[in-house]
Amino acid sequence: MSEESNQTMFFKTLLENSNNDDIKLAIDEWSYVYSFLEPAHCICGMPIRENCVIKNKYNGICLVVGNKCVNKFMKIDKEFIFKGIRSLLKNTIPNKEFINYCYEKEYLYENQKDFLLDRYRKRKHTPKQQEFIDKLLFKLKLKNKY
Ligand SMILES: [Zn+2]
Repeated sequence: MSEESNQTMFFKTLLENSNNDDIKLAIDEWSYVYSFLEPAHCICGMPIRENCVIKNKYNGICLVVGNKCVNKFMKIDKEFIFKGIRSLLKNTIPNKEFINYCYEKEYLYENQKDFLLDRYRKRKHTPKQQEFIDKLLFKLKLKNKY
């Protein structure tokens, strides 16, 4: 499928689920809800792994769209979340924005957030620190929605 037809299909599906017929107004009806990692299909028809759920404020409809498309077509940038998830999967401390985001979502307590922010970018950890890091990364990995 060409990029143009993917874009056409993306906006066609979006408009079908929006109140407005105008594409710019239709885009404004949608807000970002959460992200998750799973093989799926974007509304543009492309297979994806990095999913973003968006919700329509008028009709409550939720759609799953790809991380790339949500950024490209709707100017919603959640790349830091997927960067964070990738770090978790590699057992490394995620980026600061992601750590703060997890705290806002109440996935981390304040002291846990502060600890990770402090250890971020430091190469050496004591065995005790490493143990706590592993525990927190494991706890975050168990969440399926970010
Ligand atoms: Zn797409």
